[in-house]
Amino acid sequence: MSRTCGIIFDIKRFAIHDGPGIRTTVFLKGCPMRCPWCHNPESQNKFPEPIKGNKNNVIGEEKTVADIMQEIEKEVLFYEESKGGVTFSGGEPLEQAEFLDALLDECRKKEIHTAVDTTGDIPPDIFNPIIDKTDLFLYDLKIMDDSEHIKYTGESNRFTLQNLKTLSQKGKRIIIRFPVIPGITDSEDNIKAVGMFISSLKNIRQIDLLPYHRIADSKYKRLERENKMRKVMPPTDKSMNEVKRLFKKYTRNVEIRKE
Ligand code: SF4
Repeated sequence: MSRTCGIIFDIKRFAIHDGPGIRTTVFLKGCPMRCPWCHNPESQNKFPEPIKGNKNNVIGEEKTVADIMQEIEKEVLFYEESKGGVTFSGGEPLEQAEFLDALLDECRKKEIHTAVDTTGDIPPDIFNPIIDKTDLFLYDLKIMDDSEHIKYTGESNRFTLQNLKTLSQKGKRIIIRFPVIPGITDSEDNIKAVGMFISSLKNIRQIDLLPYHRIADSKYKRLERENKMRKVMPPTDKSMNEVKRLFKKYTRNVEIRKE
């Protein structure tokens, strides 16, 4: 696919949880991981696919960079007033690296603040070119033990850790996003390992804790896919506060996000 075309599955306006200020979040389709707790299972496959109850019963649409920029620019006044901008999310937006790169170039030309919400699970030679074009990284860290990471996500965390180190060495602004998945990511050992890794990096000033929730269940049904975590209950406030307390040993700024 050309650098100027890509597949997106949603655009969210007036987003307030995807970086600073008021933002437009563009969701690119495709992800190398297959986390069973995924809140956006419709993001995983790279191409448009059948889903019940959507327009034409399909999720995912091919768009040009110009199409997306037209949508982004509708909200420029709000970005300026709120110190917001645009966030590219997924899925994993770097699965469509050339398209993302072209979008970042256009935003830069128009002086629009950019955030990339990434798993970092991308070879460094593909990840590196977008680093200097991006103002803020929302960076997912899930599991430090690599065999556990492979077991649950289907992917090694090798690239994730390597790319995060590179961002840190370059002094980029980074917010870590940690999904709190009961019985999988929330063990004391995993939190300690993530916390120690983060504190070995220079410039991580914030960790956002994202509690598992069950609202994706209907999406799995509409995609006719099994929701392997259908019976798992979301973490209680008490357990979220405990995860927060454990992370506070490693960094002061830990927030529970409930969007
Ligand atoms: S990395 Fe994110 S988008 Fe990809 S499968 Fe996991 S939860 Fe879903």
